[in-house]
Order: sequence, then structure tokens, then C-alpha cells
Amino acid sequence: MLRLRTSSNLKRLIKVAQNRQCRPICSRRARSSSAILQEAEKYQPGQHIHGFTVDKVEKVSELHLSAIKLTHDATGAQYLHVARDDSNNVFSVGFRTTPMDDTGVPHILEHTVLCGSDKYPVRDPFFKMLTRSLSTFLNAMTACDYTVYPFSSQNAKDFENLLSVYLDAVFFPRLKEFDFSQEGWRLEHEDVNNANSPIIFKGVVFNEMKGALTSPDQMFAIHVQNKILPSHTYATNYGGDPLKIPNLTVEQLREFHSTHYHPSNARFYTYGDMPMERHLEFIQNHALSKFTKIQPDTDVPKEERWTEPREDHVYCAVDPMAADPNKQTTLSISYLLEDISDTFESFTASILGSLLTAGPTSPFYQALLDANIGSDYAPVVGYDSSTKEATFSIGLKGISENDVETVKNIIEDTFDKVIQEGFPEERIEAVLHKIELSLKHQTTQFGLGVISSLMPSWNHGGDPMVNLQINKCVDQFKKSMAENPRFLQDKIEAYFKCNTHKLTLTMSPDSEYEAKKSAEEQVLLQEKLNSLSEDQKTEVFNHGIELAKIQNSKEDLSCLPTLKISDINPELKRTQVKKAIIESVPVQLCEQPTNGVTYFRAVANLKKLPEELMAYVPLFCSVITNLGAGVMSHHELAQREELKTGGLNVSTHTVLHHSNMNSHEQGVLISSYCLDHNMEDMFDLWTEIFHRANFDDKNTLTTLIQMEAADMANSLPHHGHHYAMLCAGSSLTPLGKVKELFGGMTQVAIMKKIAEMKDLEPVINNLKMIAHILFNRKNFRCALNTTAEGLDPAVSSLEKFLQTVAAPSKADPASHVKMIEVSDFKPSSRRIHFPLPFPVNYMGQCLPTVPYSHRDCASLRVLSKLMTSKFLHREIREKGGAYGGGASMGTSGIFTFYSYRDPNNIETLQAFKSSAEWASQGKYTQQEIDEAKLSVFQTIDYPIAPPSRGMTLFLTGITDDMKQTHREQLFAVTRDDLVNVAQKYLLSDHQTNGIAFLGPETPLTRENDDWMKVVDGQPSYIHKH
Ligand SMILES: [Zn+2]
Repeated sequence: MLRLRTSSNLKRLIKVAQNRQCRPICSRRARSSSAILQEAEKYQPGQHIHGFTVDKVEKVSELHLSAIKLTHDATGAQYLHVARDDSNNVFSVGFRTTPMDDTGVPHILEHTVLCGSDKYPVRDPFFKMLTRSLSTFLNAMTACDYTVYPFSSQNAKDFENLLSVYLDAVFFPRLKEFDFSQEGWRLEHEDVNNANSPIIFKGVVFNEMKGALTSPDQMFAIHVQNKILPSHTYATNYGGDPLKIPNLTVEQLREFHSTHYHPSNARFYTYGDMPMERHLEFIQNHALSKFTKIQPDTDVPKEERWTEPREDHVYCAVDPMAADPNKQTTLSISYLLEDISDTFESFTASILGSLLTAGPTSPFYQALLDANIGSDYAPVVGYDSSTKEATFSIGLKGISENDVETVKNIIEDTFDKVIQEGFPEERIEAVLHKIELSLKHQTTQFGLGVISSLMPSWNHGGDPMVNLQINKCVDQFKKSMAENPRFLQDKIEAYFKCNTHKLTLTMSPDSEYEAKKSAEEQVLLQEKLNSLSEDQKTEVFNHGIELAKIQNSKEDLSCLPTLKISDINPELKRTQVKKAIIESVPVQLCEQPTNGVTYFRAVANLKKLPEELMAYVPLFCSVITNLGAGVMSHHELAQREELKTGGLNVSTHTVLHHSNMNSHEQGVLISSYCLDHNMEDMFDLWTEIFHRANFDDKNTLTTLIQMEAADMANSLPHHGHHYAMLCAGSSLTPLGKVKELFGGMTQVAIMKKIAEMKDLEPVINNLKMIAHILFNRKNFRCALNTTAEGLDPAVSSLEKFLQTVAAPSKADPASHVKMIEVSDFKPSSRRIHFPLPFPVNYMGQCLPTVPYSHRDCASLRVLSKLMTSKFLHREIREKGGAYGGGASMGTSGIFTFYSYRDPNNIETLQAFKSSAEWASQGKYTQQEIDEAKLSVFQTIDYPIAPPSRGMTLFLTGITDDMKQTHREQLFAVTRDDLVNVAQKYLLSDHQTNGIAFLGPETPLTRENDDWMKVVDGQPSYIHKH
């Protein structure tokens, strides 16, 4: 996986707050929380343990953890252990990877080390471990200056199994030439078996980067980094430039491995409630004892400061989905700031970044976004600490070329204004409140969050122990503010006004861009081909045949460690909830150790909504909390929201009935949380919004609509397979149709149309009508998750709140059955192509099956995992060169095939078909069936944090008893069951099914009448209004 820089996100919180969340004390285990921490605190600096020496031990009470920092004596490897009462244990090893060219060497290396190691000589061992493990996270990521290999698991045996595979993969990989050519690049005949077909470039990373770089946002982010830090590693495209990837050789790759993936250049991290000593011993025995110290020479030097600001311009592809084709210029001004290892400086800059850019109350939001000059912030915005020396960027995208100077002036003026006026006290309070709340709000992946927030600074020698001490930073910040009320203003002056290391970058579309890139690729290809002798050409052919043979060969996986079905708990972990009726509204109460935070959710059912309003529900959800309400402007509302809550969210809600394919619920999910003492304030905000949302504020509405439309269009290259799947499933069930309307290509087209409207009056009327129909107690059901002490006050606040919501009338009373049943619905087959100028395809194929409670659902779930890992992965990814692909079966009654960033389409559809045939023949082993079951249990036993417990029941009506029955059905699935369901549901020749894909023009649909083409976001089947 390649981790590119974060793209623009208005809701981006301050990094510190976002990544450091905590988990409560959990009473069910034998080792108590305090015992786990005490055990860690008994270590002394200087103490020797399994080849390591303890450097430092510290307790961080605000995060309920103790941390131990160690150094490995023989190699100098760094180690951090974080002891915490959390069963979701984490391991991670990271290396500083600092490429000096655009060949994508760290990224290709990340892929190639996962093609087999000394002890585990199998391709893609992580992927194969997925099916032999109960891991809760398992991946590898390449960032701009480090590569990290993290996993997490709740099971001790599983943890050791994974640790063994990870250590062997990174320290003892085979790095074979064939693997390099499969993952990196190679010359190969277009049709491997035909020596007369043209020779082209192939390779997983080669294709992945071609896909990733089609996005103008990604391109812009890369350019900003390259140009503001031009003298060392940050000037490169670390993921790989498709035009430079073919310069990399396997020898260079091996050399990069030996200098960068060495313990002397490594940082190890373990986290959770398992004892540290066992980890140290294992790592010492299986990896570190085999190395001696080297000088890795991977330091990144300080960037020399510019004496004059610089300006630059770059080109990108034309965005076919842009709402206004004349407004496609991006402009951003970036500043180089301090080294990120200075913890307090970094903390201050991140707070400042948040104050300046985040949310409607921030000065840049008001000056740039409210002015409606562009569609959204530029792709990189605010404080960015992903490089050794941090940067800050501000700008807009989707602007007209004529507005470039205007935007520059606004940016300068805004800095001047803030230097003069400072920030309102309430805003600073809101940021500190956000930090406090984030320390208490719990998520499942706390341990991973810790390492991902520590890694950038630790990677460059920052002290991770200091970075964990958030309260120290908060205190120092408050002190600085008290001593100097102009503390922040002075910082702004220093960071921005007086900073000559400043880059103004603009980007505009070039209609020839794609053509030029592809011409350059052709030139490169021709050069490579011209340099080949006849013998070497024969070699290309033979290499292709040989690689195909290797890919097709059956591997012996018995070397990989595995869990057994008997390691899985036969009993479901149940959640106790209480049911109540408050003000005629059904309420679910769930007592949980939530650390003094209360979580509120409500589903407002849309059964009664007129058909023609349905298309506007997603827009309604995205604007309702952002428009201002009553006397509060949208700025004031956002301000209160930040000061009193963790955010107010409204989203669409759709679920299939657990036992009926033609029955579903459609509605809106309302959710928010707050510190217990802010409960009344939180409900007051909802009351204001429900009754007095200011739909008539056309200016704000326009801004929101433009941003939403742009976000949707930009999401196509990232989530193309989701759009394909939604479309493919939309003719199969009544629910499928609604899901597509709410979140599919139909919605993208609707939003584009709304964004182009001159008169918003009809839209405003529709939104008002939705609000009027929706906010009635007869449509509501609510849920509260809070502590035992928090429950009574929460209930009485809720009661007061519900009294303000319109009451059901006698003629139309509240009812508990809120499903819609379309009993006469007939599924129909459809084939749809969305031609888009992407170099790759995103495919989806759907077949209707059964709802959750049906016995066959369990078999289909197991089968989908089996088909993915044992058939589709090989065909679509390894052979086809797609980034991903597989099959899935969830709870919406649809069995789905998909592929992601896929160079093929006909072959992929054939692979879907062949996989069903393969499945119906039953030629798989018991071991393979067990692995598929393990993968299903990974999903259903994924840890759930206290705020979310009981939510399945609340949202879907699926009870713990039904889950236990489903669990037993999963255990009981046999080979015969799998063969049966494959024949019954998946052999698509005699099954209704839907196929859809996003991708370039292709003979598949050009010459085929079965296909409907949907061009320019105006599909002919679109729901008319
Ligand atoms: Zn990748």
C-alpha cells in the first residue's frame, strides 16, 4: 500500500487530537489494568533484557499507558513498547527509506519483500496469513521517508505467528528477479502466449502508479512536496513515476534493501497487554541476533533556507467531472517550518494550522471558501508534519485562471488580519476541548494510531516518549498564552510573514496531458525495444511464459503458521442493552465504560418520503448541520459544535431486512457525542438544527454544494469499484436501487447537475420538505451509550430533547415496523459502462442471493473468502496486474465480484465467471475451507470499542441470538454446502445479475449491444425529476 499525502479535508482535525485516542479500563480480564502498567514500570534504565538495554520508562496517565524505550546492543535498533490494558496488541517495524530518484524503489521493495522469504518461500505471505490468522490489521505502507510493517491481533498464538512471518519477510526476503518483474516492471507481450502480439510494460506498481497519478489532487500534493524541499529525498516521487520505474534494476533494489532494511536503520514498536519480554526474546532470536551494526547513512539533511520566495507552475490532466470546466486551476502557497522533532513547536504549529484553516469559523475558510472563488481548499492544506521539516500550505482548487492574483492577495491579507486581531478566545478553547475529548473518545485501533502519529518524528530522531506527553504540551501551550497573549500572532508573523522559504505553486489542466504522457511512455518503450537483440526478444517471450507458469503453479503453503478453527471462541461476545420508550420513541440504552463521554444516535426513518425527494436526501445530510440555525450563523453553529461536542453528523442509512430480500429500511442516521457535562448543550444544538436550519442561506448552501460535488467527482479514482458495485447491484433488490441513488454514480450525476444550477430555489424547497417530514417522533428511534453514572442524566436530557420534536398525529401514530416492503419487485439483469478517461478499470458484478438469517448466507460468506484468496486474487491481481479484486458477501443479500485499478475488463469478467465454475466443482481442501472461515471470523470478531457496542442491533435489528445462530452456521459449513450455494446462486448464465464498470473506451462495450453506456454523468436510465 502506498501512503500518499493527505488530500484536502475540511473536517481535518489537529493531528495530535485525531491520532491519540484511548481505550477504557476493561474489567473482564484476569490481569488488571494497573497490573499491566505496574509490570511495565518495574523496568529500570540500564537494565539488560534479551540483547536490549532499557533507556527510559515513563507513565502517561492521560492515555492510561506506560512506555518503555530500549536500544538493541549489537545493532543499535530502536524499540518502543507501550503497555496498556488493550487486548488488540500491535507490532510494527519501520525503516527510514530515503530514495534519491523517481524509480519508486521503496515502494517496489515494499511489494517485493512480500513475495517470499527464507523461512516462508511463498508469494504474498501477508495476504496468505490473512486467511490463517485472526489479525485485526495486517499491512505494509510506504510513506515519503519511511516504510512501515504493522499488524495487530487479540490472540497470543496468532501474534507470534504473524511476528515470525513479518520478521522473515523484511529481514530475509528472497527478492527474486521474477518477483521484482511481477511487482515492479517488465517487458512482456501483451498476450503472453503470442510472440506476435506487441511487447508492452507490465507490473503491479507500474500500473498502480499510473492509476494513482491520474488524480490531479495527488499530482499536486507530490509537486508541492518536491518543490518546497527540492534538495534531497523529498524531491522524488517515492511511489514511482511510471516513466522512471522502468529504469530500476533488481540489483539496485537489492542494494536498497541491504542498506535500508537493516536493524541499524529500524524502529520496532509493540503495544498492548501482552508481556514485552517475550516479544524482545522472539525478535532477538529470530532476527536481530543475525546482524551486526552498520552506518545506514539515511539521514535527511536540513533544507537550506531560501532567501527569496519562489513561484512555479505545473500541468495536470483535465478533470472530466469538474462542475465548471473553466475553473480548474489550483493554487497554493506553502511555507517551510521547523523540524518536527521539536515536540512543542510542532504541537503549536498544528494548533495554529487548525485555527487558521479548519471549519467555517476559521479565517481562511471564511476568506477563501465562503467567497466561492473555488470549489474547495487546495489538495494540501494546513499544517503537514509528514516530512522532516514541517510545511504549511494554504490555497484553493477549482478556480478560474483569472482569479490567481485575487487568491494570492486574499491569503496575504488574511495573515495580516489575523496578526492584527488574533483569534477569539472561544476558538482556542474549542481546540483545547477537542484535544480533551479526543483523549477520552475510544477507538478500536488505538495502538496503531499511536505508532502512526509517532513514526514521522521518531523516524528522524525525535523522542517518542516526549511525543506521548500530550498534557505537558497542553500545559505549556496554556502557559505560553498566559505569558504572552500575542503568542500565536507572533508565531504567525514568524512562520508566514517573515518566512522567505515560501512557494507559490499553480496547476492548470492541459488537454494534451494524457496524450503526452502516453507518447512519452511509447518513446521509452521504443528505446527499450530498440536496445534488445533478437535473442533478448526471445528472452522476453520466454520470461513471460515462465512468469505465467510460476504464477499458475500451486504453492506449498504448509510452511506458513496457522490458527485452527478450534482456536476460535464458539460463543459470541454478547452486549447487554436495555429497551425503553421515551416520549413514544423507542430508545436503546447501553451501559459501557465510555470514560465520561456520552454517545447519541437516532435513526429517522424515511418510509413516508415522496419518491421525488429521495434523490436529495444525501445533499440534505451533508448540509443540514453546516448551514447555521435560528440566530446562529453557520460560523457560530460550527463554533458551538466544536466547543461542546465531538461533532454533529448526519448520514444516509439503508439496511436490508434480516429475513426478507424485498424489504428494507431507508432513513437518516443522526449521531454525536460529548463530555457528559455538555449533554444539554449538545441536545440544544440538535433542537436548533431540527427546527431552524437555515436553508435560505444561499451563499453557504452554494459553497457546500460546490464542495460536495467536487468531493464526489474526486472520489471516482479512489472508490471507482464502490461505484461500480453499487450500480451493478441496483437492479437486483429494492434496497440496491436506493443505495445506488444515495451513493452511486446516479448521485454523482445529480450533484453535478445541482452544482451547475443557477437558481437554487427548487432545491431549497425540497430540502425544507425533507426536514419537515423527517423530524417527527413517529419516524424516530434513539440509542445512548454511556457509563452507569451517565445514564440517568442522559435519559432526562434525551427526554427533554424529544419533547421538542414534532409529535405523531392520531391519524398517523408512531409504529415500530419501519421497513418498506416491495413485494412485487422483480430483479433484472443489466450491463452498464461509465466511459471515463482513466487508464484503468473498476469493475463490479452482483448477483442476488439471500438475507442474513438464511442458512445459505453463512455458506456464501465463507465461499466469497475462499474464492477471493484461492482464485480471484491470482487471476485478477497476480496475473491480470490489477491493484485488487475479489468477491464479497455482506448483509445486503447481494453477492459481489469486483476489481480495482484493473488494466483489463473482458478477462476480469471471465475470471468472475470462471471463479463461480471453480467454486461449484468443489476442488478445494479442508484446510482451504478452514482458512476461509478464519477470514470470516476475523470480520465478525473484530474488536468493537465501547461507543459502538450494540450498534448492529440498533441499526439492523439483528439480535445477539441471531448472531449466535449465524456463528454456529458458519462453523458448520461443509464442502457440500459451498458447492451447493455456488451452483444455486453464482453460475451467472442462469442467474439474474448486474455488471457495471468505470473505465476507458473499450471494444467490450463499443461493439456490444448488451451494454448501456452512461456518458457525461447523464445516464439514460437516470431517475427523472
Ligand atoms: Zn503499492
